[in-house]
Amino acid sequence: MKKKTIFRVIASALCSVLFCCCFASCADNKQNGSGTDKEITVVAGEYLYQNGVSGYTVVLPNESNYYEDLAANELTMTLEKATGSLISVVKDSQLKTKNRVISLGHTELWDEQVGLVLSSDDIIDSGYYIKTVGNNIFISCPDYTSSSGVLYGVYDLLEDAIDYEFYAKDEIQFTKKKTIPLYNYSGYIVNPSFQLRNLVHAEMRDDTLTCMRYRLSYPSATYGFINWGHGQASRYVKPSAPCTCGLDGCGGTFYQHHPDWFSADRRQLCYTGGPELEKAAAEKFIEYFKQYPDATYFMFGQEDVVSHCECDRCKQAMVDYAGNQGGLQVAMTNNVIEIANAWLEKNQPGRKVKYIIYAYYGTRKAPIKKTETGEIVPYSDEVKPHDDLYIFYTPIEMNYAFQIDSDINADVYSDMCDWSAITDGRMLMYLYDVNFHAYFVNFNNFTTAKGMYETCKKLGISCISSQSADSYVSCFREMRSYVEAGLLWDLNLSYNDLVKKFMNAYYKDAAPYLYEYYEIMRDRFAYYQNLVNPKAGTIYGEIQTSTLWPNSVIIKIEEQFDLALQSIQKYKETDPTLYDMLTKRIMKERLQPIYLKLTLHASYYSAEEYAELKATFKYYVNLFMLTEIKEGHDFGNLLD
Ligand SMILES: [Zn+2]
Ligand SMILES: [Zn+2]
Repeated sequence: MKKKTIFRVIASALCSVLFCCCFASCADNKQNGSGTDKEITVVAGEYLYQNGVSGYTVVLPNESNYYEDLAANELTMTLEKATGSLISVVKDSQLKTKNRVISLGHTELWDEQVGLVLSSDDIIDSGYYIKTVGNNIFISCPDYTSSSGVLYGVYDLLEDAIDYEFYAKDEIQFTKKKTIPLYNYSGYIVNPSFQLRNLVHAEMRDDTLTCMRYRLSYPSATYGFINWGHGQASRYVKPSAPCTCGLDGCGGTFYQHHPDWFSADRRQLCYTGGPELEKAAAEKFIEYFKQYPDATYFMFGQEDVVSHCECDRCKQAMVDYAGNQGGLQVAMTNNVIEIANAWLEKNQPGRKVKYIIYAYYGTRKAPIKKTETGEIVPYSDEVKPHDDLYIFYTPIEMNYAFQIDSDINADVYSDMCDWSAITDGRMLMYLYDVNFHAYFVNFNNFTTAKGMYETCKKLGISCISSQSADSYVSCFREMRSYVEAGLLWDLNLSYNDLVKKFMNAYYKDAAPYLYEYYEIMRDRFAYYQNLVNPKAGTIYGEIQTSTLWPNSVIIKIEEQFDLALQSIQKYKETDPTLYDMLTKRIMKERLQPIYLKLTLHASYYSAEEYAELKATFKYYVNLFMLTEIKEGHDFGNLLD
């Protein structure tokens, strides 16, 4: 959040005419994702770099934030690698010339030369506006957003200038150039397909920069999601925390003073705990608002258990107004939001936050009823979700081998449509990207991931979070990250084209063989899921079986890996560094067939062969710092 309230008010009055004109005429330029149908001309006689020299300066707002600073750094450092010379970065107050400037964020020069008040009605979070004025380039996004759009605008500028593409942290490609023209950006908005894009897994958790380069949203002080995940009873009104209600007899813990605020097992809140509970919860939000002044998303959460409160008061409330547990949760959160928003209005005017609750296990069903004409409406006024309330729809039961709107996922889809109907699409979708019982077998959402995103988009959902293993794993983790992040940014792209593009960049000469392996795998899954075990596509489905992976199939897969390694042999002498890197990348994926040989087909191998396989497995498992065979389980005797 940029604290420019005063400017905002004045500028809105001054610029409202200009603003309306521009956005009326610019509306056609709105895009979902970058790179599509974008025609860029150049400014004749002007250059960002000429013969390796640049006359440009990057300017940032005086109070630049994390994303703007990172954007400036990424832009100048990458251009330096491509051209050999570094552009300097200054703040507004240090800017000496108003010519040949790349302005990032809401700078003073922006007000002077562009003069638009960008609105979050037009530019969603992560989106940006780009315009060339004279010989200056401007990239900015609306105030009171995270400014991540400025960073993504920079990546698009780098793509235009030097064919920049981020495949993985060890595979960043761009073209070396000495001369780069000044592009004539006509003034348009670029919006991503989804405004919140999360891939939740160990590699992203440990590497914020890679996360940003994939254009993912990372739970951070500038973005939000401070209380990611399950955290209601534990972080907001925790049974063991000191009670702060101030009522008669206050002292001791929340549970001691207000046992009826919690379910009997103390694992969930009792959503009918009443106004004092709501006040206590709102106060906790307010504490976080102060602690994280730039964050947008605040998660109320819910514990990771199936149980919920079953007190008489909750039962009666379900009859009276709530319909179900989901309704109880919404009704209570609506009240909490009223209190928290009143505080914001008074203390941080202009700041808009988004509140999030799970629809998960006991609260998955939406509190709805059908009218006589079949329209889906909230069960009562009390359970109509507040305009600032987002539902994090988390169907852990879903089958990923089939689309969300297929018969096999009918329940999941129907509940999802119900929530969408009563929230106008103010939802986040929680998807899964791994089988938690089989970290060494690829999860087969290759053919369904894009369609699932499309179903979300169709229902108005603009935020997607996809969870994979919380430890390092193989199974095309790098490729999945690149492809999925790419689609979440621009859903017009093709899953398989992205796969091919990634494989060519990442496996180079070995790409055709890795692709063949990928196809063999998909064929096997298609057969198995359609004819043997349709439930194999759930996150705990049986996919580590010799019916799915008979020895004959493993031999076919291994042939592809042999060919892959042969194809890079030529680098052993000519480019040992490349040879070493490619060998590791190939072997990381080969761990899957090796693992299946060790666990399913040991009888086919002599003791000597088996020991050799095991040694190879152990070597690469350690090299790639893989620690789990499935969620919460180490490798046992496989690493003896
Ligand atoms: Zn108290
Ligand atoms: Zn209750």
